[in-house]
Amino acid sequence: MSNELQELIYIQIRALIQFNYYLRSSNAVIPDIVTVARRRLTKHLLQIGKYPALGVNEWLRYLVEPSEHWLGNNDIFDPLSPLWEEGGLSREAEWFLEAYGLPEDFQERPVLKVLTYCREEDEQHGYVLFRSLLTNSHLAVINQKTLTEAAGKIVDSFIRHQYLSCYEPFDEWYIHKKCPCCGWSLSIHNGQWRCGRSNTCSELEGYYLSKWSLQLAENFNFSSEDQVYRLLPGIHRFILVPGIPESRIYQRLSQRYEVELYPEKDEFDIRVYLKSGTLDLDVKCFKRPRHLVEYINKLSNSKREPFQTNRAKFVVPNEYAFDGYLEQVNSQTKKYQIQAVSENQLLRMLEPKEKFR
Ligand SMILES: [Zn+2]
Repeated sequence: MSNELQELIYIQIRALIQFNYYLRSSNAVIPDIVTVARRRLTKHLLQIGKYPALGVNEWLRYLVEPSEHWLGNNDIFDPLSPLWEEGGLSREAEWFLEAYGLPEDFQERPVLKVLTYCREEDEQHGYVLFRSLLTNSHLAVINQKTLTEAAGKIVDSFIRHQYLSCYEPFDEWYIHKKCPCCGWSLSIHNGQWRCGRSNTCSELEGYYLSKWSLQLAENFNFSSEDQVYRLLPGIHRFILVPGIPESRIYQRLSQRYEVELYPEKDEFDIRVYLKSGTLDLDVKCFKRPRHLVEYINKLSNSKREPFQTNRAKFVVPNEYAFDGYLEQVNSQTKKYQIQAVSENQLLRMLEPKEKFR
């Protein structure tokens, strides 16, 4: 049953994304996936005794309502969240997509193109540089000069071009503030500053040594002549924000061990060179433990295999690993004999082993 529900939600989200493109384009034909999604939803609605979504309007009306109104009881999707809000996917829908969907569903195109290119061309150095620039909070919102300088570090012209297309002009920078966590632009929403629609940074406030507050953020400090750019919202949401704990873990490890970022063209996030061999880490920033469980369930056997040995581990950054998080993940992935650890557990775990050698 739960797989059917996952599929039902997934197809609704894909259809909403396509429907949004359709609304913005001059295309007169509603995408087929909308009809497919509406029929799937109607079938489900009838099963749970609700009124069917006979037309596109009814379909949309359901999807902007809390999911409990159209999904019924379930343990997959937050009952109070809709799929669509404020002209975009809801935060819950984004989390869902990240856990259950494919990278193509949520990653911005330049990132996917560079990954494919670097895997084909065996271009490890260029890939690491590209990703490091995108996860640098100092480069989240920048002027033309800084953008040109950053891009100038990339030797490969294809990667450089894709890097530039990860930014959009940001002329209204002066009405925004600078996020003290990720460097991206804060907007005011219901009287509160928030960081992107997902506002993950606000949830990290107060966790793990953070001494900042979004509500006390500072203005951007550009001049009126500056042409300003910022990272695309999708890069901010899916690369920059999760990249911040990732680089912190990298930094912490690099103080004691030899470490490598994105080894084998992003096969893993971090590789640690220990006396006993290498340890590969996949840093996972899922807000909910069941999303990490689902991510692990969905992996192919060959992708999952390294994590069933001592050679690879899933690591949950401290600010995500709330009490009970890892217990939940580990008890639900027991059948694979996979052990996910928190950032601090990882550092503690490595220490004695290395010390006594
Ligand atoms: Zn932020």
